[in-house]
Amino acid sequence: MLAASREGPVDAIGSWIDGRSAGASGGEALDVLEPATGERLARVAQADVEGAERAAAAAERAFRTGPWPRATAAERQRALLRLAAGIRAAAEELATLEARNAGKPIADARWEVDAAAQCFEFFAGAATTHSGRVPPVDARGVGVVLRQPVGPCALIVPWNFPFLIAAWKLAPALAAGNTAVLKPASATPLSALRLGPLARDAGVPDGVVNVLAGPGATLGAALVRHPAIRKISFTGDSDNGAEILRLAAPDIKRVSLELGGKSANLVFADADLEACVEKSLLSVFGNAGQDCCARSRLLVEESVHDELVARFAKATQALRVGDPLDPQTQVGSLISPAHRERVAGYLEVGRREGARLVCGGEIPRSGALARGAFLLPAVFDRVAPAMRIAREEIFGPVVSVLSFRDEDEAIALANDSPYGLSGSLWTRDAPRAMRVARAVETGVISVNASRSVYLEAPFGGWKRSGVGRELGVEALDAYSELKSIYFETEA
Ligand code: NDP
Repeated sequence: MLAASREGPVDAIGSWIDGRSAGASGGEALDVLEPATGERLARVAQADVEGAERAAAAAERAFRTGPWPRATAAERQRALLRLAAGIRAAAEELATLEARNAGKPIADARWEVDAAAQCFEFFAGAATTHSGRVPPVDARGVGVVLRQPVGPCALIVPWNFPFLIAAWKLAPALAAGNTAVLKPASATPLSALRLGPLARDAGVPDGVVNVLAGPGATLGAALVRHPAIRKISFTGDSDNGAEILRLAAPDIKRVSLELGGKSANLVFADADLEACVEKSLLSVFGNAGQDCCARSRLLVEESVHDELVARFAKATQALRVGDPLDPQTQVGSLISPAHRERVAGYLEVGRREGARLVCGGEIPRSGALARGAFLLPAVFDRVAPAMRIAREEIFGPVVSVLSFRDEDEAIALANDSPYGLSGSLWTRDAPRAMRVARAVETGVISVNASRSVYLEAPFGGWKRSGVGRELGVEALDAYSELKSIYFETEA
C-alpha cells in the first residue's frame, strides 16, 4: 500500500535570481516526477542559458558591490543561523518534498533535512574561526596571510541527496563570503529551489543566493564557462566531472569535484559478524544504493565467507522495501524507471559474468510498488575482481561479494579500483585496523562502523572519486583564496 498522506502534485517555486522568483527565465517547463508512483509531482519553470547569464550577473554584482563579502564573519554567522532556523521551521514540509521527489524513505529525508540545518549551523560557527596567519618573514616587517572569498561560485548538485548536498556546498560558500548560483539536478529540483526564499527570509542579501532549475548539459555547462564564475563545486558522475574540468580549464577556475565510488567493506574473520551485518546493510542498500559512498564491494576473509554471506542475504531479504512516505520503509524506490533499467542491466551482466545471485534483484510487478521504480536489494556472491559488477559503479541496490585470504590481499583488492571515495573495515585487531585504514586509498573510511561522513570532518575522494574536500573546516579553504601581504614596519 502507498501511504494515505500523499496528496497530489505540489506547487513548485521557479528559479530564483537576485532575490526574487525568476519565472521561466527562458526555459521550457519541466515535469518533475514522483518515482514511487510514476506520477507528476510538480511542473517547474526551468532556466536556460539566458537564465544562467542573469544569475551569474546577479551573483557577480552582489560580490563586487554588495554587503555580503564585506560583512564581518559574525554578521554572516547570524544570517546562516537564521537560515538554519528557517530550514528547521520548514523541516517536515521539506522532508516530505524530498521523500516524494527522490523516492527516499521519509525517515532518511527527515534526517537529511536536519543534517542540512546542522550544516548551516556548523559553517556559521566555522566562519568566525576561519582565518589566515602571521608567518615569521623579514625582520623589517610583518607578514600577514589573509583568506578572502573566491567570488561567485557555481554549485552543481546531483539527485541522490538533493537538499543535503546543496547545503554542503552553499553553507561553506556563503560562510566564506562568496555569492552563489546553485543548480540542482533536473530530476530533483524542488527542495533546493526552496533555499532561495529561505535565504532571503534569513536576511541574506539579494543576488547572494541564486537557484536555477534546468539541464546540466546546457544551463550547467553555461554556468561553468561563464566568465563571472570563479569557482565550481560539482557532485555527480565521474565522466561529467572530467567534462567540468575541461570546461573550467581555459580560465583556470577553481574546481572541487565529488564523484563516483565503488567502496569496499572489508570483513576480517575476527570481526563481530552480527554487528557487522546489521550495520553494513544500509551502507550499501541505503538510499536504494544510490549513494556515492555505497559499500558496494563486500570483501570477506575466506574462513568466514559462507557464514557472512548467509547472514547478509538473510538480513537483505528482511529489509523493508516500500513506500517512501511510510515511516517503516528502509529502502524506497530508485530515481526513475530508466535508472532502474540501467541497474537491472547490471544484474544481467553479473549473471553472464558467472557471479551467483544469492537473493534479490526482482522488480515488483503487482501491487502498489509496481507503479514505481522499485527493485529489491540484490546480493551477488562469487564475484571475481575483473568482473564489471566488481569494478563499475552500479548506483543501485546491488552488492558484490569477493573473498580474500589475508590482509595483503584484502588491501590489494580494496585498492583495485579506479575510485577511492569511502569504505569500512571490521576487525577486533586494533593494530590491523589502523594498518588497513591507512593502506586503503580512499578519502574516508570507518572502522567497525558504517558511517564515515561527518559535518566536522573533510569528505571527498581520491583517484576518479574527485578533487578537493567538502565539509570540515577544510571546506572553507576550498571557498577562499589566500593572499600574502608583506607590511614593512621599519622606517
Ligand atoms: P550527473 O553527473 O548526471 O549530474 C549531477 C549534476 O550535474 C546535475 O545537476 C546535472 O544536471 C549536472 N550536469 C550534468 N552534466 C553537466 C555538465 N556537462 N555541465 C554542468 N552540469 C552538468 O550525476 P547524477 O545526478 O546522475 O548523480 C549520480 C552520480 O553522482 C553518481 O555517479 C554518484 O556516484 C555521484 N555522486 C557523488 C557524490 C560524492 O560526494 N562523491 C555524492 C553523490 C553523488 P541534470 O540533472 O540536469 O543533468
